[in-house]
Amino acid sequence: MTDPRYAPLLDLAAAHAADYIEGLPDMPVFPGVAARAGLSAFDEALPEVGIDPRYVIDRLHGAGSPATVANAGGRYYGFVIGGALPVTVAANWLAGAWDQVVTSSVNSPAGTYIEDVACRWLLDFLDLPRESAVGLTTGATVASFTALAAARSALLARAGWDVEADGLYGAPEIKVVVSDDVHATIEKDLAMLGLGRNRVTRVPVDSEGRMRADALPPLDALTLVCTQCGNVNSGSIDPIGAIVREARKVGAWVHVDGAVGLWALALDDLAETTEGIVLADSWVTDGHKGLNTPYDCGIVIVKEAAALHRAMGISAAYLPEAMGEPKDRVPESSRRARGVEVWAAMASLGRQGLIDMFNRFRIHARAFAAGLEDIGFEVLNDVMLNQVVATIGTPEELKAIRAHVEASGECWFGPTHWLGRDAIRIAISSWRTTEADVDRSLAAIRAAKEAVIG
Ligand SMILES: *Cc1c(COP(=O)(O)O)cnc(C)c1O
Repeated sequence: MTDPRYAPLLDLAAAHAADYIEGLPDMPVFPGVAARAGLSAFDEALPEVGIDPRYVIDRLHGAGSPATVANAGGRYYGFVIGGALPVTVAANWLAGAWDQVVTSSVNSPAGTYIEDVACRWLLDFLDLPRESAVGLTTGATVASFTALAAARSALLARAGWDVEADGLYGAPEIKVVVSDDVHATIEKDLAMLGLGRNRVTRVPVDSEGRMRADALPPLDALTLVCTQCGNVNSGSIDPIGAIVREARKVGAWVHVDGAVGLWALALDDLAETTEGIVLADSWVTDGHKGLNTPYDCGIVIVKEAAALHRAMGISAAYLPEAMGEPKDRVPESSRRARGVEVWAAMASLGRQGLIDMFNRFRIHARAFAAGLEDIGFEVLNDVMLNQVVATIGTPEELKAIRAHVEASGECWFGPTHWLGRDAIRIAISSWRTTEADVDRSLAAIRAAKEAVIG
């Protein structure tokens, strides 16, 4: 490429990116004090006269790269972050050059078409109802917001109320049921939707954090039940089959927050655990977690496409086609072509490659749990997905161990609270994590334990 406005910059960005990626195994997983202090290089007044674009890119690499969290590497286990498959980073660059706005096929035939293919592949891979409408959002928070808006629309429409036109004042009341261990983002979604964080019935959970189907309140045709496939701590999956069957009897809506674990639907050995999930009304997951696309990418799936289109359509016009346009499936109008990365991940791995990747997360998680027990930790969950919750010593000792590991730069994981106890949470969700990464991380944890407890 010879266009002098682009070529030197793209070459420079590629060189810096390659340098960054090469350096990932050796950089501290969480940036140290000096690297974070280096961010002050950006702390200057807005230039009156613009600076050379090459210097802009150099500055990003020079002061920005060292202060990043190395979750693109294989030893970051915090939250549930996921890596980005190399092909998805490359696809992201190309899509960046395209600069498409995926509002509708009028704005971007390529962006819309490729996204629609990726959405159909998702339904196929997860074996969810093919008539569902699928939308791509920034993340699972907005994906669930979108699905719950569709639920609100459907439940109220069946009761003769048009919530999009008339709002919630004076509407029949929707009863919302969540588990005691509901993810905080669902509560935020309920707040944003006018359904209220506190206006919910909380169902007790078992020792794995699963909603107890035998403790459900009475359901009716105006009930919205929020379930989880992949508890953010334990990775456990609610007994969604049993819950859906109760809900079906009365016409309640069942939503599945599968940000962490919807992929379990594709894993044969978990078929018993995931039984009945296919019968729910809406599902979400994250591309940027398990699927290993770059940030940001959430996925919302709603069986009753018309309900999603009513909730998300820009105009009040009813949209008969199954999928509709991207703008009729998500809150945003203008947005980037994140479907390109979903497509790239799925195309490059294929069905078996995807299954293998999800199973690798689980194998590493089990190895992690065994290694932690060997060091003296107590593992607090049944490690069946990609999440490990463990504890050792007093809360102060545990905190000191975490700080010690963070300072070593060898790996990073966060604190959590589980079954009333302070604990650590390890999430394995990067394609890049290897057995050697797990061993190296366990060695760092062992050294920290010995330094703190002996
Ligand atoms: C991460 C997560 C979310 C929120 O997803 P974002 O992509 O951060 O918006 C929701 N539910 C669960 C269980 C999660 O783990």
